[in-house]
Formats: sequence, C-alpha cells, structure tokens
Amino acid sequence: MIGISLLGATGSIGRNTLDVISQHPDRYQVIALTAHKDIVKLREQCERYRPQIAVLADSAGAQQLAQQLKKTVPETTVLTGADGLRAAATHPEADQVMAAIVGAAGLAPTLAAVTAGKRVLLANKESLVMAGDLFMQAVQRSQANILPIDSEHNAIFQCLPHPIAAGLASQGVRKITLTASGGPFLHRPAGTFASITPEEACAHPKWQMGEKISVDSASLMNKGLEVIEAHYLFQASADQIEVIIHPQSIVHSLVTYTDGSVLAQLSNPDMRTPIAHALAWPERHTAGVAPLDLPALSRLEFTAPDHTRFPCLSLAYAAIATAGNAPTVLNAANEVAVAHFLRRQLPFAAIPQVIEACLAKLTDSTIDNLDDLLETDQCARQYATQHIAHLTPV
Ligand code: NAD
Ligand code: MG
Repeated sequence: MIGISLLGATGSIGRNTLDVISQHPDRYQVIALTAHKDIVKLREQCERYRPQIAVLADSAGAQQLAQQLKKTVPETTVLTGADGLRAAATHPEADQVMAAIVGAAGLAPTLAAVTAGKRVLLANKESLVMAGDLFMQAVQRSQANILPIDSEHNAIFQCLPHPIAAGLASQGVRKITLTASGGPFLHRPAGTFASITPEEACAHPKWQMGEKISVDSASLMNKGLEVIEAHYLFQASADQIEVIIHPQSIVHSLVTYTDGSVLAQLSNPDMRTPIAHALAWPERHTAGVAPLDLPALSRLEFTAPDHTRFPCLSLAYAAIATAGNAPTVLNAANEVAVAHFLRRQLPFAAIPQVIEACLAKLTDSTIDNLDDLLETDQCARQYATQHIAHLTPV
C-alpha cells in the first residue's frame, strides 16, 4: 500500500485526489487529511478514509472535530496549527504528499514534505513561485521527487525526457509552451473590466476550481504564476517559455524540440488526469476520466495572449527578469489583491496595478534564506494592503 498525506483535502484538488484514490482501494491508504475551516467536509472525509491524523487549522474547530470523531473513527488523532500540518506532511508512513493548500499558507508544510524527502505531488504553485530557488535547493538536498499537478506542468513533465537534466537545451528542447484557456473574460472588452464581479470572475468556462485560482485564471495571473513555476521546475529561462491561448483546454501544454518535433499532452479538462498520472508515475492507472473523443472536437484554436487587457502575464515575465525577491513580492501582492477583490474591496482592473506598485517599491534585494523570504512576503502584504487602502473606494 502507498501511504498518502493530503494537505488541503477539502478543496477542489483535494476532493479530486480522493476521488482517484477511491478508485484504487488496494493501492492507496490515506494517512493524513488536512483542512482550514471546513469541519463538516473534513469529518465526512475522515469517516470515509479513516486517516491516522486529521488537521484543522483552527484550534477550537479541531477540538470539536476530535469530540465528533471519538465515537466514529477513534483511530484518527486530530491535530491543529502549523505543527499539525508539519506532522501530516512528514508522517513516516506517508510515501506521497499531495500539496494542495492554496496560497502562501502551503509553503511551510510543502517545504517540510520536501525536506523529509517525500514524493511531493505539487498543486500549490504559490509555494514554488514565492520560494523558487530555496524550494529547488531543498529538493536537490533531499532528492525529493516533485510530480507537478498543475495540468500544464504535468503535461510538460510527460513530454520531456527523463530524468529532466539541468538545462533544457542540452536535451534538444527549444521551448516549452503553456496553454491557457483565456478564462471567462477572453472576449470581454477592456472598457467593461471596471464592472467585473467576483461571481463573474469565478465562473470559469472550462475548470471547476477554488476561488483564488479562478480569479487568477480570469486575470491571467494564473498563467503568470505558471510561467514562474515552469521557470523553477524545469530550469527554463523566460525566453524558453511561451504562453498561448487555447480556449478548448484539450492540449494542456507542448514541448518543441530543436529538430522541429512538438510533443503535446491532450486530455479532457479534468484534474483527475494529472492527479492520477502523478499518483501512479511511472506507471499508469485509471482516473475516472472519459477518453478524448477526437472526432467530436470540431476544432482546436490557438491565439497569442493579449498582454494589454491582461497585464498580469507581463508582470510575471518581468518578475523572472528582475529575479531576487520579485517573484515573492508578486505572489504576496497578488494574494492580497485577489482577497480584496473577492471581498468587493478592490476592482478587478486594479489587481495588476497593486502588483505593479509593490514590485516597483519592494524589488531591491535577494532572498538568501527562509527568514528573508518570510520578511519579504510580510512587507509585500503590508504594502499591498496600504496601497489598496489609499485607492479610491470601489
Ligand atoms: P481550494 O480553495 O478549493 O482548496 C484549498 C484547500 O486548502 C482547502 O482544503 C482549504 O481548507 C485549504 N486551506 C486554505 N487556506 C488554508 C490555510 N491558511 N491553512 C491550511 N489550509 C488551508 O483550492 P484548489 O482549487 O483546490 O487549489 C489548491 C492549490 O492547487 C492552489 O495552489 C491552486 O493554484 C492549485 N491548483 C488548483 C487547480 C484546480 O483545478 N483546482 C489546478 C491547478 C493548480
Ligand atoms: Mg494550470
């Protein structure tokens, strides 16, 4: 049996992972499940998967959960806070750790899993974006295996030769191409961006996802974060990473080789495919996803992204070029701006303005250790919050 710890079990990726795991009950055993606040969902999951530990971030909620599980699942120990997350991420019986907490909150447990040398199924792109070099140095040291869950990076992983050596060029790779659906505002005129609501931004045409990544997809910052993610994960320079809009979300990404060959991974837009791939790698097993019906796909379209209506993408490329603490600042500013937008305290069109202001003010140093990283993250959050407070109210 393969032991799995699931960080962020109650979210979209967490639930899809449990769906795949439950299709292979003889192969996987759930060791730990974690959630932020959703006590009802976590209790249901514990009753079904009977993990050794369950973690709820909120300590009052954790006590309540412990009471509830005493009768139904006495073998589950309920933990809380950062120590609880670390225990889930490093549990000796966990062979694989699904890192599916959203945002910077996922960094510490994901790094703990990496340091413990786990096989890490990485959905939490923000941890890699904010910690870039430190994260990859930790991977080098522990020799942890990182299996990308983001559908684009999972596609690229499938199309690259293995092992992935330093320097794509030495493996005959000319460029990697990340596809983007374009999100709900692909054809929306710039003049109407001021009235965009959180409901409209979260209504993604192709993917069912958590709120934060849905807003990122709408602003194209999700693709920006993915460009930075690819930069670190595959040691690709910014000019080796291209983005194209592909509204059908069937081709998940492509690798172009120097001989003119282009390898792509295609599947229906369902996160259970990359999740099943990463769980089973280097083997394959079912994901519960319908096979592609090629004749039914009337056409696949590809167009260049519009950097004018979606400036977040250019900001991400700029952060790679600036290097140092820029990706950390960009990630923190984006998280703060998206949270304000979701609370209707910031217009959608102001999200890139907040990020740009933070990058202009704060990108002047390197990140040498975890303390630097956390300090930069906090400074950027403070500056972004102050900047938003000084903007005209929505
Ligand atoms: P979600 O909002 O649906 O779920 C987030 C999970 O993290 C929940 O279980 C929540 O309880 C937990 N969580 C949130 N804040 C926390 C905190 N402060 N401390 C501890 N736990 C916390 O998000 P999601 O859509 O499942 O995305 C998860 C991650 O995967 C994100 O980084 C996202 O970018 C990435 N991702 C998601 C998809 C997708 O299809 N949903 C695709 C690619 C990558
Ligand atoms: Mg993606």
